[in-house]
Amino acid sequence: MKICDYSVCTGCGACANICPTQAIKMTIGLHDFIYPHINNELCCNCGLCSARCPANAKPINSCNVNKVYAAWNKNKQVRANSSSGGVFNIIAEKIISDFGVVAGAKWTNNFHPEHCLIENKEKLFLLNGSKYVQSDTANIYSEVKDALKKGKNVLFSGTPCQNHALKSYLGKEYNNLYQIDLVCHGVPSYDMLCRHICEIKSSINKVVDIKFRYKNPYWDYCSVKIDFTDGSSYVKYTSDDSYFTLFNIGYSLRDSCRQCKYTNTYRYGDITLGDYWGYSPNSSKMRDFQKGISLILVNSLKGEEILDRIKGDLIIEPSTLNQAIKGNRSLKMPFSPPEGEVNEFWIDYENGMTVDELCKKYVPTPYVVPKLLWLRRLKRKYKWVIKKSE
Ligand SMILES: Cc1cc2nc3c(=O)[nH]c(=O)nc-3n(C[C@H](O)[C@H](O)[C@H](O)COP(=O)(O)OP(=O)(O)OC[C@H]3O[C@@H](n4cnc5c(N)ncnc54)[C@H](O)[C@@H]3O)c2cc1C
Ligand code: SF4
Ligand code: SF4
Ligand code: SF4
Repeated sequence: MKICDYSVCTGCGACANICPTQAIKMTIGLHDFIYPHINNELCCNCGLCSARCPANAKPINSCNVNKVYAAWNKNKQVRANSSSGGVFNIIAEKIISDFGVVAGAKWTNNFHPEHCLIENKEKLFLLNGSKYVQSDTANIYSEVKDALKKGKNVLFSGTPCQNHALKSYLGKEYNNLYQIDLVCHGVPSYDMLCRHICEIKSSINKVVDIKFRYKNPYWDYCSVKIDFTDGSSYVKYTSDDSYFTLFNIGYSLRDSCRQCKYTNTYRYGDITLGDYWGYSPNSSKMRDFQKGISLILVNSLKGEEILDRIKGDLIIEPSTLNQAIKGNRSLKMPFSPPEGEVNEFWIDYENGMTVDELCKKYVPTPYVVPKLLWLRRLKRKYKWVIKKSE
């Protein structure tokens, strides 16, 4: 029984959630990513997994983005702990205030991101921050369905393939379901992260926290920060960190990410959130954007309803889709280095090369932080004055 082509399987886990006989388990497969494995003794050949697999579905084929904004959360602490402008948190808080629940990716004890349901605001911090590793969707789609059937408002947040998977799993519209899909660059495997941590310190068991978007010194030139049980910390500019660099250039991404069908403006969420890369302010109220600014795409009436409810908690400015696409490659095309190099990369990986060695070999001239960065930043901060006087 083949569910879909191996190369386009996103590991979304919809098939495992939908199988009526629990014949499908997600197990480690190619390049240490998770793939479905069918136990033929349990399979009754109903065909449901293949029929509902999002990789087999026809994609949406027209842009459904209605409105575009640049924004950030007025709460400084939440903004600092979030990857972009901290907009996710406000939406999640509003849903919980309405006796709802929120599904998103948290770190587990061994730092493997996993989707879970959060029911109170005090625990929302667990979902904060981008974890640049594939999250395990475990039983989340069936848990979401249970909550929807009980009449709860549910906010689901995740990558576009996970959002598509949820829609496909549910098979019908629910008025009480709200979806956030992230602008998505792709995901490395958990094993790649473990290998990197081992190179820094003996094992992942010694980690107490990982922040991939530690806004120090800035949001746009941030660091990777890993805290260990002995009180030490590893802090490096993302451009100096081998794991982040390989992710950023695209070598370490899952095969499906390098040919992703969601890197466009045909969105599966009511709202899409991302970083507003390339943003320059149009007014003085937006001049502090360098502490983190979110891109918000509103893609449905539900999305508009959500935004109307949170606007008061945001510093917000309307923008245009052209401007948003200009700065964000993940809205245009997947990240994919030349195929031959990618194949060689994975052979080296399977042969046990360290993440540092892989980075040195495949990205010999990494991105360098500009010397007069502070001057560039100052110019961008006050560009609105020039724009106004023109
Ligand atoms: C793997 C990945 C790739 C991304 N690529 C891009 C990109 O190329 N361009 C861009 O503009 N933005 C990208 N983003 C989105 C961006 O990093 C922020 O997540 C987004 O802007 C929301 O930020 P925030 O400040 O509102 O909230 P935050 O608190 O930073 O966001 C938290 C949300 O991210 C979700 N999340 C965190 N890690 C994962 C994960 N591994 N899998 C699924 N969901 C997760 C949580 O469930 C939560 O809903 C990516 C995010 C992820 C997770
Ligand atoms: S449903 Fe998801 S995990 Fe299952 S085969 Fe399809 S893409 Fe892969
Ligand atoms: S065909 Fe049906 S029973 Fe078999 S693995 Fe797929 S969903 Fe499960
Ligand atoms: S790049 Fe595409 S396939 Fe990969 S995680 Fe993101 S949405 Fe899924």
